[in-house]
Amino acid sequence: DQDQPKKPAWIRVKAPVSQGYKDTRDILRTNRLSTVCEEAGCPNVGECWSQGHATMMIMGEICTRGCSFCNVATGKPDALDVFEPGRVAHAVATLGLKHVVITSVDRDDLDDGGAEHFAQTIRAIRHRSPGSTIEVLTPDFLKAKPGALETVVEARPDVFNHNLETVPGLYPTVRPGARYFASLRLLQRVKELDASMFTKSGIMVGLGEDRQGVLQVMDDMRAADIDFITIGQYLQPTPKHHRVDRFVTPEEFAGYEKAAWGKGFLMVSATPLTRSSYHAGDDFARLRLA
Ligand code: SF4
Ligand code: SF4
Repeated sequence: DQDQPKKPAWIRVKAPVSQGYKDTRDILRTNRLSTVCEEAGCPNVGECWSQGHATMMIMGEICTRGCSFCNVATGKPDALDVFEPGRVAHAVATLGLKHVVITSVDRDDLDDGGAEHFAQTIRAIRHRSPGSTIEVLTPDFLKAKPGALETVVEARPDVFNHNLETVPGLYPTVRPGARYFASLRLLQRVKELDASMFTKSGIMVGLGEDRQGVLQVMDDMRAADIDFITIGQYLQPTPKHHRVDRFVTPEEFAGYEKAAWGKGFLMVSATPLTRSSYHAGDDFARLRLA
């Protein structure tokens, strides 16, 4: 795309070649699990998989939404696989994960938006790996029947993550079908239901937002009692996806990081290669030791 700004040197992608990478890949393949690492073409896959860290994507590879930044296929999803929670739990135990991140496609086709499947997956992991901490990165359950969110919270993940993705002004083009304040409210409600649960959210930058907009999102997040924030550079998965407006410099990221700590977040990750799940386990372990 001629329009696109050139990828700067600080966006580097290391080739995934290590034995650890292959071991992780094999365990995921054997258990027939999808990952957002692959689906999103994440630039950190070499590093994360080498360390046995992956973000598993449950409930299929077809999403009922079509966000313009996302490489997951849109369409009519397959029926839920009742054995999937068990396979996820088995993979988590085999990989020996201390912290696991579970995400999913959006399932507007299901009554409960997939909440019970999330809850079963959490319970299966707890049962097999009681020492592991569990982070869920959920859809917004906007079209689900009442009680969907409660179902997930009652399964007691350690971290409840839901991404705002971008500033509210860009929702119509970036995140059609979602609503900014509904997503904020979802996370606030998690805290109301269980004050001991950590809440987390993230945005991508370089989509056309400005600094003031990002600072406003931080304030909105804190007003909704959100504990952790991630901010990373948006990268275009294919030329059909939302264009990169600009590459935010590492210095600007450092400015965002400083601002976020100042606003009282308990955990902040703001670098060009930050992703919602990047170093999630390390950050969480540090927090618990602090
Ligand atoms: Fe996977 Fe997250 Fe690591 Fe990317 S940052 S490779 S999505 S675990
Ligand atoms: Fe991708 Fe999630 Fe949007 Fe579906 S809801 S298109 S998986 S970002």
